[in-house]
Amino acid sequence: MSGPHLTAARRARELDELASTPVDVLVVGGGVTGCGVALDAASRGLSVALVEKSDLAHGTSRWSSKLVHGGLRYLATGDVGLALESARERDILLRRTAPHLVRPLPMLAPLGDDISRRDALLFDAGHRTGDVLRLLAGTPRAALPRPRRVGVTETVRMLPAVRRQNLRGALLNWDGQLEDDARLVIAVARTAASYGARVLTRVSAVDGRGTVRDELTGQSLAINATHVVNATGAWADGLAPETRLRPSKGVHIVLAAQTLGFPSASQTVAVPGQPNRYVFALPHPDGLVYVGLTDDALDGPLPDVPRADEAEIAFLLDTLSRGLERSLSRSDVVGSFAGVRPLLAGVEGRTADLSRRHAVVQGEDGLWTVLGGKLTTYRRMGQDVVDRLTDAPCRTHDLPLVGAVGPLSNHVPARLVRRYGAEAGAVAALAEHDASLLEPVAPGLPVLGVELVWGMVAEGALTAEDLLERRTRLSLVDAWAEAAAPQARDAAAQAFA
Ligand SMILES: Cc1cc2nc3c(=O)[nH]c(=O)nc-3n(C[C@H](O)[C@H](O)[C@H](O)COP(=O)(O)OP(=O)(O)OC[C@H]3O[C@@H](n4cnc5c(N)ncnc54)[C@H](O)[C@@H]3O)c2cc1C
Repeated sequence: MSGPHLTAARRARELDELASTPVDVLVVGGGVTGCGVALDAASRGLSVALVEKSDLAHGTSRWSSKLVHGGLRYLATGDVGLALESARERDILLRRTAPHLVRPLPMLAPLGDDISRRDALLFDAGHRTGDVLRLLAGTPRAALPRPRRVGVTETVRMLPAVRRQNLRGALLNWDGQLEDDARLVIAVARTAASYGARVLTRVSAVDGRGTVRDELTGQSLAINATHVVNATGAWADGLAPETRLRPSKGVHIVLAAQTLGFPSASQTVAVPGQPNRYVFALPHPDGLVYVGLTDDALDGPLPDVPRADEAEIAFLLDTLSRGLERSLSRSDVVGSFAGVRPLLAGVEGRTADLSRRHAVVQGEDGLWTVLGGKLTTYRRMGQDVVDRLTDAPCRTHDLPLVGAVGPLSNHVPARLVRRYGAEAGAVAALAEHDASLLEPVAPGLPVLGVELVWGMVAEGALTAEDLLERRTRLSLVDAWAEAAAPQARDAAAQAFA
């Protein structure tokens, strides 16, 4: 069972068609928000084109913490509506639209010296309220177990590197974790394509009226679109200068899971002197742990690809080390990444307190802009945009993404099932005439050769960089990207040959 194949040839054909074919909706931006708008509109029967200046998930959407939040943190600011919206969207992703890409993640807040008994009570109360949100959102306990307190032995079993001194156990809570944020974007984009949306990467919008430029040829094209939707996230003011954003940078570092003794739960560590601020160490099945995150206002022009600086890396290492038996050092860091939150402006105070709510606004020129929000709520953002463009009812609550339904094969590597769901069989079948494609792309790396080929023949990758950065995420570890670069270049060249 396989979804639509996005390829270079399809891109060229669809771009040609757009020169003479009008569309109902032109979406600008191929992050999770733009792809969510495209899917919502196409599944309601509208004709849709989506243009992305670089590659799918080129922007913020690939730099998230990869969590599908149940809204707990919004309760702390008293925004019950937003918290419930998050919990509902988590339920939709976890059980209906993307069960292959979202799994429950146990999250432990160890009770050590840094957490007073009073803070522990507050934490516990927060978790319990979060559990009520789970219930209100209709998520069964089987999908997300109840929060509870665990003893020292269980804490150490789940977090082997945790600091033992004065450890009183831990508070255990569950939330959703994405296999990979970029894979979610690609799944949403391909599902939109399965409803007829033309998904065009390396095409940028020059204005908000439908003029676009093919970044591969430099040629301009005027797309005749009834509605244009600006979903360019932190770059939204490029097309809609009246937009008021207050970008905030968030950094993660990447550690080998071995460094923390292969934890099976995430670890929460309080940031000293900053109430309500924590660093999380989030384990990933690829043998990595993502540690984040920072949250600092970003002034000046936005970089195309933000980078972590040494001070931010040191802050994360120092904070996490407070919760560990052994202090970490710079040489433990195998990679780092940074993203820019597309936060709405208009609220005073630290960026960490700014609302993650989204807004849909229309400029005087008719351009719609969708702003704010987060990965977890992308579907709701798409719905809110398209509700303004048509009376046809929204269908995305119950619409499984590519890979979400279909028989799961037992005869393919478990890794493929984890990343491709019901498409794993089709991915593995690429090795029919070359069994070596089921081997890792380089010794010791988790990614298999078929994943590079699949990226080119089905997932719209156009370059080796697309494969390393956004189809496989090998670039999250500097050494992995280096080791796999020749294979990625071969896979890209062979697809074009
Ligand atoms: C550090 C960090 C951690 C986060 N963690 C989480 C989390 O764990 N869970 C969660 O739910 N949310 C999280 N978020 C929030 C979430 O990642 C973002 O809200 C979301 O990804 C924004 O998606 P977007 O599509 O709006 O923007 P983007 O992903 O940035 O997409 C915008 C796209 O527009 C393209 N573009 C720009 N200009 C043009 C143009 N002129 N023409 C064509 N294309 C253009 C860009 O190339 C880009 O691909 C996190 C955010 C950050 C920064």
